[in-house]
Amino acid sequence: MIDINRVWSDVKTQLSVNINSIAYMMWIEPLNPHSVRNNVLILITPTLNSKTTINRNYYDIIKKALTSLYSSFSDVRFLLESEIPSDSSYSDDIHDDQLVINTSVGSVKRVCPFISKYTFSNLIEGENNELAKHAALAVSKCPGGAGDYIEFNPLFIYGGVGLGKTHLLHAIGNYLWENFPEKKVLYVPTEKMTNDYIDSISSATKSTDIKAFRKKYRSVDVLMIDDVQFLEKKAGMQDVFFHIFNELYQAGKQIVLSSDRPPKEIGTLEDRLRSRFEGGLLADIQPPGLEMRIAILKHKMLQQKIAANDEVVTFLAEQIDSNVRELEGALSKVVFYSNLLNKPSPDISIAKEALKVDTQKKDVIDPNEIINAVCSYFRIPKSDIIGKKKTKMLVEARMLAIFLITDMLSTPLVTIGQLLGGRDHTTIIHSRDKIQQKIKENKETLIQINDIKSLLSK
Ligand code: ADP
Ligand code: MG
Repeated sequence: MIDINRVWSDVKTQLSVNINSIAYMMWIEPLNPHSVRNNVLILITPTLNSKTTINRNYYDIIKKALTSLYSSFSDVRFLLESEIPSDSSYSDDIHDDQLVINTSVGSVKRVCPFISKYTFSNLIEGENNELAKHAALAVSKCPGGAGDYIEFNPLFIYGGVGLGKTHLLHAIGNYLWENFPEKKVLYVPTEKMTNDYIDSISSATKSTDIKAFRKKYRSVDVLMIDDVQFLEKKAGMQDVFFHIFNELYQAGKQIVLSSDRPPKEIGTLEDRLRSRFEGGLLADIQPPGLEMRIAILKHKMLQQKIAANDEVVTFLAEQIDSNVRELEGALSKVVFYSNLLNKPSPDISIAKEALKVDTQKKDVIDPNEIINAVCSYFRIPKSDIIGKKKTKMLVEARMLAIFLITDMLSTPLVTIGQLLGGRDHTTIIHSRDKIQQKIKENKETLIQINDIKSLLSK
């Protein structure tokens, strides 16, 4: 049975990051979950005015947060209390497990600010993430690092997008919420912290607001900042954060940071901050291998009570080799598609069909157009790019073409290999990763890519 209070509280946690705090207080906070009907979450709005505003300005963002966190929901509706039919008319056409009336509307309780499903037990462990997971667990059991764990402060978790960094931070939060209810734990994405800070210095009541800002960040026992790579190029924020960091650290408070890359790769990060970040434990998360992707899919299917057919699981795990978020997305699509066809559980033909539907929608250009654009950008004949010659320029052109195809289209790796003169799919992966790396290292690569893309739109 779905606990809609929990669902709504998770969605709110997500929204509080994406919506500025005044708008959040005005429009989101007053909403209350009422029930679920045919996979649509019904929320009660207090006034007609708020209903109109929410439908106009916040419908998309609320729906996105809901469906991305809980793939069993397909939509959200806003109703006034007076528009809700009586309970009996509801129960007529829905199953018991679909209807969950919220009985606690209006009652005050301690609301957990962490996304409830991002727990340690829901995070599958494998070679790629075990260091990060164990370090996070150690920190949760002993925040601030008494004795043995002192070197875990700060804990700096880094890894590519969609690999579970935010999940781990919330898992720490959930664990502490359960086991150390007296501890003040603050989780903030870097962008939110930066916005808070900008709001405080640009407000009319500047000095009180800055004080409130400092107090909020300095009065915690555990501070978790997500995606600190966004501190890049924000000298003012770096300075403020440096002081918050030192104060907490010296007071023995736990700091946990996440980033999409290690501190040494965050450009324009002040040295003093970089050395603080590197002063504790650096734990990386690598992309999951095939076995791990299979294990994750099985876990998600079990949770959603979807019969796991080995063929389908393997197919999905092989198709999606980038990150876990995309893996989840592919699974939702397959489940959605099989619901549409009224099939109780997805079989392989449904899975193939569902993912194909996706590729057809996404690909408006042909991979050959990308190859041609790269050739004209480098002024080389197509026979050279698909041929065997290995001059520096040709190797570079080939890698860029491969990267652009993988980035813009959903062409299978094997097909890309064929298009580029029968190259192996491992070569394709290698080239893609190489360019991804180069983009991080130098600006020229990104400029080249944008130039080629602009040729494509002509
Ligand atoms: P990041 O913050 O690194 O971009 P997220 O923490 O948002 O990634 O993770 C993306 C999605 O993948 C989340 O829904 C998360 O629960 C899921 N996920 C990532 N790694 C795992 C894992 N090892 N086991 C189960 N789910 C995972
Ligand atoms: Mg994240």
